[in-house]
Amino acid sequence: MPARFTVTTPIYYVNDVPHIGHAYNEVATDVLARWHRMRGDDTWMLTGTDEHGQKIMRTAVANGTTPQEWTDRLVESAWKPQLELLDIQNDDFIRTTSERHKAGVRIFLERLKETGYIYHGEFEGQYCVGCEEYKTPNDLVPGTGEFEGQQVCAIHSRPTETVREANYFFKLSEFDDRLLALYDERPDYVQPEHVRNEVRQFVKQGLTDLSISRNTFDWGIKVPWDESHVVYVWFEALLNYITAIGYGVDEEQFERRWPATHIVGKDIARFHAVIWPAMQMAAGLPISDHVFGHGWLLVGGEKMSKSKATGIEPRQITDVFGVDAFRYYFMSAIAFGSDGSFSWEDLDARYHSELANGLGNLASRVIAMVHKYFGGTVPEAAPDAEIAELAERAVATAEAAIDRFAIDEAVDAAMGIVERLNGYITEQAPWVLAKDEAQQERLAAVLASNVHGIGTAAILLAPVMPTTAQALWAAVGGEGAVTAQPIHEAHRWQGTRTVTTVPPLFPRIEQAQPAT
Ligand SMILES: [Zn+2]
Repeated sequence: MPARFTVTTPIYYVNDVPHIGHAYNEVATDVLARWHRMRGDDTWMLTGTDEHGQKIMRTAVANGTTPQEWTDRLVESAWKPQLELLDIQNDDFIRTTSERHKAGVRIFLERLKETGYIYHGEFEGQYCVGCEEYKTPNDLVPGTGEFEGQQVCAIHSRPTETVREANYFFKLSEFDDRLLALYDERPDYVQPEHVRNEVRQFVKQGLTDLSISRNTFDWGIKVPWDESHVVYVWFEALLNYITAIGYGVDEEQFERRWPATHIVGKDIARFHAVIWPAMQMAAGLPISDHVFGHGWLLVGGEKMSKSKATGIEPRQITDVFGVDAFRYYFMSAIAFGSDGSFSWEDLDARYHSELANGLGNLASRVIAMVHKYFGGTVPEAAPDAEIAELAERAVATAEAAIDRFAIDEAVDAAMGIVERLNGYITEQAPWVLAKDEAQQERLAAVLASNVHGIGTAAILLAPVMPTTAQALWAAVGGEGAVTAQPIHEAHRWQGTRTVTTVPPLFPRIEQAQPAT
């Protein structure tokens, strides 16, 4: 039976304007899913949108519409087009306003009520509508400007509202020991290490029960046994990962797909690695495979944000550099798990040195030489041992890197082949060999080595640059879809031995940054 790989993005907050921060998460998750599909794993990629809560209700009203019409519009005009733009191959898209999600949430809540993990209680706290969560005094900072003299939300710079509610609570406080045991027994459950340490530290300080319902507004999923309450958006949103795969409704699909791996920004790792596993424990579910908290994209040293001047839409980049270069840049330039700085200068420099001069130039030179010296037929010669070994090692390195979520290292391994081949051509100087009748066998081996290496690199790069990889693959005589190749055996590929032509993959770009 093939290995299961279910991987999820967070569900994106529907009111946000999609920017390259979301795109980064989407592309990384897509690369992992594509990689596992090429291994032959039973792969499922889930993404979607988070659509309930007070803030969405308020913006819908402010825009003269209903919350449902408002979220429908945003999903269709912003979120789904972004997935398409970025060539994301998600298998499913879940909306928290969908009937299947609501049904699963109700089943889950009933289950938790039966097991005694939900109770009714009184609560007063400082609530930030922007964050949709209660704040502790530690979360607040002194306000400035019109809010001078008041305490404000550190993220939204606005005062919180004092909210007193009689709510339903989840007994989160009962789970700290079991969570700590989980982190100890499964050291790879939360990754990377610094996120795991932070989560562990947070739980060690002790957990308080979580208010999981609201009765001051009604844009949400009603608590099944008390329709005057809606379920707290965060609590409900986390359940998308199971409602999308048939929790409580389609047991066969659920058994097949669960548990999943969650790829999230480090700022929401706590929800995914503390509250979410506690909910799973309370409901008697197997715990998620992994929670990986990646870093932030920084622009000019600041976290990417639509509310600040740093928000960049992916289209601004893809219009100039193309989708594959966009995907390549963010997957290779930033160590996955660390923060990374985006700049137009860095993107432009890497595009030209690594893609145009590195990969594009290599492919066009090699193919031109196979045409010129062998009439377009790849000579029947074994690749040089050095190149054959390099290709095999690159595959093993990339495979191991993907299992550690080190996407950037997997890309590096593939590009290591390209870099070496460019040096190898210079050293071997096939144009010199071609002039010497006695060197024909050597010339054949050099070009066969190059074709072998490019084919291997094309397979390894397919999850990151699907269109480019397919063009490279076809050009070196690969048959069918490059994505049909087993990626863990990329160095064993056999083609038709007929090269075609390679289209210009990475045209030179004169003005990288759009005029503002
Ligand atoms: Zn806030």
